[in-house]
Amino acid sequence: MTEEKKNDLTLDPENWDAMRQLGHQMIDDLFEYWQNIREQKIWKPIPSEVKQFLDKPLPEKGQSPESIYQEFKQNIFPYNKGNVHPRFFAWIQGTGTPLGVLADLLASGMNPNVAIGEHSAMYVDRQVVNWCKELMNFPADASGILVSGGSMANITALTVARNSFRDEKIRAQGLKAASAQLVLYCSVETHSCIQKAAEVIGLGTEAVRKIGVNDRYELDIESLKAQIELDIEAGLLPFCIVGTSGTVNTGAIDPLDELLAISRKHGMWFHIDGAYGALAKLDPQYAGRLKAIEEADSLAFDLHKWLYVPYEVGCTLIRDAKMHRDSFSITPNYLLQEDRGLSGGLDSINNYGFELSRGFKALKIWMSLKEHGREKYAQMIAQNNRQAEYLADLVNGNPNLELTAPVSMSITCFRMIKSGYSESQLRDLNREILLRLQEEGIASPSSTVLNGKYTLRVANVNQRTRMEDMDLLVKEVLRIGAEIQKIVH
Ligand SMILES: *Cc1c(COP(=O)(O)O)cnc(C)c1O
Repeated sequence: MTEEKKNDLTLDPENWDAMRQLGHQMIDDLFEYWQNIREQKIWKPIPSEVKQFLDKPLPEKGQSPESIYQEFKQNIFPYNKGNVHPRFFAWIQGTGTPLGVLADLLASGMNPNVAIGEHSAMYVDRQVVNWCKELMNFPADASGILVSGGSMANITALTVARNSFRDEKIRAQGLKAASAQLVLYCSVETHSCIQKAAEVIGLGTEAVRKIGVNDRYELDIESLKAQIELDIEAGLLPFCIVGTSGTVNTGAIDPLDELLAISRKHGMWFHIDGAYGALAKLDPQYAGRLKAIEEADSLAFDLHKWLYVPYEVGCTLIRDAKMHRDSFSITPNYLLQEDRGLSGGLDSINNYGFELSRGFKALKIWMSLKEHGREKYAQMIAQNNRQAEYLADLVNGNPNLELTAPVSMSITCFRMIKSGYSESQLRDLNREILLRLQEEGIASPSSTVLNGKYTLRVANVNQRTRMEDMDLLVKEVLRIGAEIQKIVH
């Protein structure tokens, strides 16, 4: 019975000991990498040989794992994006942690599909969703689901919003069943995934009202009220308001309390996109302004941003668990649940979202929250916010620099200035500063345009950043800026 026939194929290693040794080597190399990351360049251009190597056709025959790993070390590992580095501030991308990575390895090794069945990962997933509710002070009887990230978390929430809108029977009959066009309200600063979601769930781009913002980039309430009145007069159905807790551009916080009140008044769904900034709730300095998160009908937030968990994982929370389940539940014959055995256990997670195959991404969150506890995360998030404020102080203290937006949460937008320079000269100067910062491997901010001003954008959800990195960043911006101006003149 245990005799293996010569012709029984498998993908397991021919030499288990060699593979185990290779695994140890990989772990050692990763630890080297993390422990010395501060001394390394944050980014390197990819040589053309490497790009050619990564453009070869499908292999017909196999090769040894050792040789594959050598190829990885030569061609892939050195040209990483850099968000593990203490001076990565581009877009909004988390750092990850060693235990989070090891948890992912274990999750992958167990390899459960965490959608259905009686097995431990289902209970870990449930516990993590419950912890997410606790982090956000959502009611214990709310529901939630872990998804790949903020975009998925937002569309999951908006699907529930659409399917449970009044008695419109939209899940069964589609949007044509609605008595009029559904309209969604957000601001011009709202993340693009909200528009995409509105398109995918059948509202269409034209049903998305992007309301203007004030000088702090927060949704302007008076314009919102006026637009809702106009739409009601036109016979349309205002259906959902999306408020943002931490916009992607500047970290602005929409007036969530007022948005909540308006949505209640009109019987609308109130969703909060907190992909980046919902977790700022843990910083006492922001807790008050984010209190309305607790009252929202739904919330989307990322754990790969401000919980520093390795990619990828986001979370949707829905206040009304029944509405959530009623939006997605479906039980085909091949997914029947029993009350015993492997097919028993918790309600299928597929009843709460679109995806049926789901990895064990809960484990990295479970281990991380146990490793550090809520308090430590609150300190880390507050630290990032204080670093952003410190950077702003440095900028304000230097006549050659200016802030281009008020600092909110952990995003600082600034640029170099020079009297007599036109907007386009300033854009060229700051763009060149940005590119050299990246190419010299010093730091990786990204850019944005605010009120027509090209701007360096430092978004910090980095658990490795120190205050001194802000000093260095400013010093290098000034050095590079001065060098460029010398050449220009
Ligand atoms: C990052 C972000 C998103 C998108 O989340 P992903 O995890 O990248 O899919 C949506 N909204 C805001 C405000 C974000 O910062």
